[in-house]
Amino acid sequence: MVLADLGKRINNALQQLNKAPVIDEELLNQVLKEIQLALLQSDVNVKYVAKLKSNIIMKFKMEDSQGVNLKKMIQQAVVQELTQMLDSNKKPFVPKRGKPNVVMFVGLQGAGKTTTCTKYAYHWQKKGWRTALICADTFRAGAFDQLKQNATKVRVPFYGSYSETDPVAIAEEGVKHFKKENYEMIIVDTSGRHKQESELFDEMKQVQAAVNPDECIFVMDGSIGQACYDQAQAFRNAVNVGSVIITKLDGHAKGGGALSAVAATESPIIFIGTGEHFEDLEPFNPESFVKRLLG
Ligand code: GDP
Repeated sequence: MVLADLGKRINNALQQLNKAPVIDEELLNQVLKEIQLALLQSDVNVKYVAKLKSNIIMKFKMEDSQGVNLKKMIQQAVVQELTQMLDSNKKPFVPKRGKPNVVMFVGLQGAGKTTTCTKYAYHWQKKGWRTALICADTFRAGAFDQLKQNATKVRVPFYGSYSETDPVAIAEEGVKHFKKENYEMIIVDTSGRHKQESELFDEMKQVQAAVNPDECIFVMDGSIGQACYDQAQAFRNAVNVGSVIITKLDGHAKGGGALSAVAATESPIIFIGTGEHFEDLEPFNPESFVKRLLG
């Protein structure tokens, strides 16, 4: 189910509360069952779906108000539970001006890592930060050319190599170069693989050890459904993931799986990718996202 439909389905379920003369546990159960089904069909992890229901039932039992207040309470509880699901309660990294901030990107091939690095660079560049991009992806043929083209389009200096085959050496050299030139936002794009393989994780760890980043951003494809949860956990266990960017939440993305995977990384979602253009990067706030979803 696409995200916009999820919002509609939840709203429709909640509408039943407005129509009913009294709200008893049976009706609430029915409404919550419909909300649960909608969440599951949007690939939200089953663990969170069950928790959402039990938390709302608990609030309902503790509440002795009736009518309008009760409906409002249930509606607010749904918003609150969904928001909590998307909120890691961890403060994201805040880069500081006037010093080099090294930010490393990790993720599987095709997740949108290179595109997102460029969007992120463009974001800081527009704010007037001295921003640079490094291509430490030596695995995929054409990776450096792609980053070079992207960087040129957004007018951000870049570093990479056609001949060097060691991604750790490139990352280290690139960071050293841009630090010397007083760049404030130094972004390192790393290799991806199609699968979560040990070679990929070893390489990520080595690059991380070599450049000692201030932040590591995990880029995840928002359209991959339930698989997100395991993938997020695997990356979290391999490298020190500080925050997450979920891509492809435009168009027909289900998104629920990716959104609930935030819990697996215990890291905040900082942006979502909403298209292929470099300006299609939106800051993410759990509460406003849920409110917008539910109209
Ligand atoms: P990488 O292998 O992880 O570096 O992935 P790329 O950056 O090459 O992106 C893979 C594909 O996903 C490209 O065709 C991108 O244009 C596309 N892509 C990346 N982010 C988004 C997004 O937010 N929305 C859409 N629709 N496409 C995206």
